[in-house]
Amino acid sequence: MARVTNWQLGRQMSYWYPESRPKKQFAAIFDTNKCIACQTCTLACKTTWTSGRGQEYMLWNNVETKPYGFYPLGWDVKLLAELGAQQWNGSTYEGRTIFEAARAGERALGWRPDEHDYAYANVGEDDCSGKIDKGAAFVAQHMAWFFYLARICNHCTYPACLASCPRGSIYKRPEDGIVVLDQSRCRGYQECVKACPYKKVFYNPMTGTSEKCIACFPKIEQGLQPQCFVNCIGKIRLAGFISRPEDANPDNPIDYLVHVRKIAKPLFPQLGLEPNVYYIPPIHVPVQFTQQMFGPGVEQAIAAYRNADDDLAGLLGLFGSTEQIIPRWKRDKQSVYGLKEDGSEVVKVPLREPIHERLALDPQFNVVRTNCP
Ligand code: SF4
Ligand code: SF4
Repeated sequence: MARVTNWQLGRQMSYWYPESRPKKQFAAIFDTNKCIACQTCTLACKTTWTSGRGQEYMLWNNVETKPYGFYPLGWDVKLLAELGAQQWNGSTYEGRTIFEAARAGERALGWRPDEHDYAYANVGEDDCSGKIDKGAAFVAQHMAWFFYLARICNHCTYPACLASCPRGSIYKRPEDGIVVLDQSRCRGYQECVKACPYKKVFYNPMTGTSEKCIACFPKIEQGLQPQCFVNCIGKIRLAGFISRPEDANPDNPIDYLVHVRKIAKPLFPQLGLEPNVYYIPPIHVPVQFTQQMFGPGVEQAIAAYRNADDDLAGLLGLFGSTEQIIPRWKRDKQSVYGLKEDGSEVVKVPLREPIHERLALDPQFNVVRTNCP
């Protein structure tokens, strides 16, 4: 095994291939506080990529309710229980990754779901963390919590799917770091399905090969955000490219939120894949839960989010404002701009939406403009 740097762990770790980072790395930020679980993203992906035979059960994008929602069933809790203690010392991970904890003869600690595990895509939807007696919510509204977690393939820097494939069918595109699966090489061994801790590779029984999210790379190549991003009703998503922490550029919106302001966190960084989808943690969930899920720094992330200054609030306002990828951004007084690499304007949004007060009686035309004058 090679020794590679995983900045999310604050240390080096063992991986099956030497460190080889792409020229650019596709990355995304999801704001969990804005997701309403409408599943529009799920359907946008489904109708674009997985409407064929053998794909009926596949959700390359899914949205589950935490703590009791899973797709497939128990995808995270099963692995976390097997991995054992996941201790952090400050921002350094002291436990084992799934590569370091692999059983003899295997490349990653994993498990393969059976077909029933995929049969309850919406299990636990809107289930609270605790029991609420009928009517109790009227007297004490904060006894229990849940939140929505939207998930796609993380296009990991150290993909377990890639490491585990005995055919070498999975590779990271050097131009954008998107992880793709060559179906002409695949023989359907499903080692990738077993190894991916996020369970974002799916076996197609009709073709005998595996399939996965491709981050809509035909759109990325045209400078456009993926389907699940541009169709997101809650405008919770932003796609772009991330730099290594030492190269962080505050003008890059992803770098700014992940590296500079540190309000967006990876999903289960302790597993060791350096996943490239980052989450703004839910503000109302006990921090013990979110720390296990998003790693150290969750409390600071929530504090920064709650007290967002004009720059932070302005950048969050660019989410969902355009189909185009905005590799650069800037704020100028009361306006926030999404920019191309060359600095030309793609989109402009106001820092604060203007409020127009409409009089009940329009004196110019002498008409009543509201239902309740
Ligand atoms: Fe591979 Fe899973 Fe990482 Fe996607 S999330 S790159 S399928 S290991
Ligand atoms: Fe959440 Fe957006 Fe998907 Fe709706 S479309 S479920 S708001 S991520």
